[in-house]
Amino acid sequence: MVSGITAGTKNGVLLKGGKYIEEMQNLDVMVFDKTGTLTKGDLEVTDIIPLKNYSAKEILEIACSLEMNSNHPLAKAVVKHAKQLNIEFKEVEDFESITGSGVMGKIHNKTFYIGKKSLFKGNAEFPDETIKILEDGGKTAVILGYDKEIVAVIAFMDNIRDSSRATVAELKDKGIETIMLTGDNQGTTRAVAAKVGVDEFYSGLLPQDKVTIVDKLLDGNRKVGMVGDGVNDAPALARSNVGISMGAAGSDVAIETADIALMHDDISKVNFLVDLSKKTMNVVKQNVTASLLIKSSFAILAVFGFISLWMGVAIGDMGLSLAVIINALRIGRR
Ligand code: ADP
Ligand code: MG
Repeated sequence: MVSGITAGTKNGVLLKGGKYIEEMQNLDVMVFDKTGTLTKGDLEVTDIIPLKNYSAKEILEIACSLEMNSNHPLAKAVVKHAKQLNIEFKEVEDFESITGSGVMGKIHNKTFYIGKKSLFKGNAEFPDETIKILEDGGKTAVILGYDKEIVAVIAFMDNIRDSSRATVAELKDKGIETIMLTGDNQGTTRAVAAKVGVDEFYSGLLPQDKVTIVDKLLDGNRKVGMVGDGVNDAPALARSNVGISMGAAGSDVAIETADIALMHDDISKVNFLVDLSKKTMNVVKQNVTASLLIKSSFAILAVFGFISLWMGVAIGDMGLSLAVIINALRIGRR
């Protein structure tokens, strides 16, 4: 087990205990978060579409002032974009983050919201057509508005990690089902799912919905692994049999909640972990079987007086321990 953990560390994988090595070989399903996990989460603002009498600059001023208080990948993209354009940040009062939906706060005595449609419960007219076009193009669109009036649509583009597709394919080859979960809209999600090749996907989820899906899988007696970045998926990571977090892009909560952290956000290490688990468990089985066999044969031989005390200690105990350790050390090698 210790050898397994050491081999993990050498490969940029931090394991919080031997137990998780054991569980990795039994997984039936691997659940992935989308943003920041299968995708880079390093989004870029691509469109700012004014819908009322606000200029693109004013829209960005409001958006970046609100998003400065959030660490969501979308928020970081807005702030980065605004800084590049030297946009002025305004003071925000009563800031609130509505997990999995967006953020809100007061600027010049007007309460603005930015995020999903569900934030705007009033009788606002939604720019559905505009949003649909953006989403069908694989973009994520959020709405900016105040007091139930919509002011603008802001669109973002995310990029899929280079290794996501191959990682998913390899898991499927191993007979592990792959599922993608996200709070993002259906159009964008479908586009990403097709590119990555997951078996199934669910969109528009709140953090609690992600937990419910993991629970359903667990209720069906399936062993569930989950990979996430901790942004709105930490509770689901905690619930899975093995929670794996992105180490660099992941939030502190994620790394704390997870059982395993991928230090360089290298998602392909998920397959390395499954292989490591199988290898480690094989060696554990070999060692246990060999120890039992040798010890019991020594016991029998000793009964008939074929073995002296020093032979028993030297070969049966020290020798065997060494053999077991040497066998375990093989885990670290390819
Ligand atoms: P994912 O599951 O893909 O990581 P999240 O659950 O974090 O997505 O977010 C779901 C959706 O909620 C986003 O696609 C966005 O529409 C909205 N949202 C969440 N946080 C913010 C934010 N800080 N600013 C704008 N929109 C947000
Ligand atoms: Mg996320």
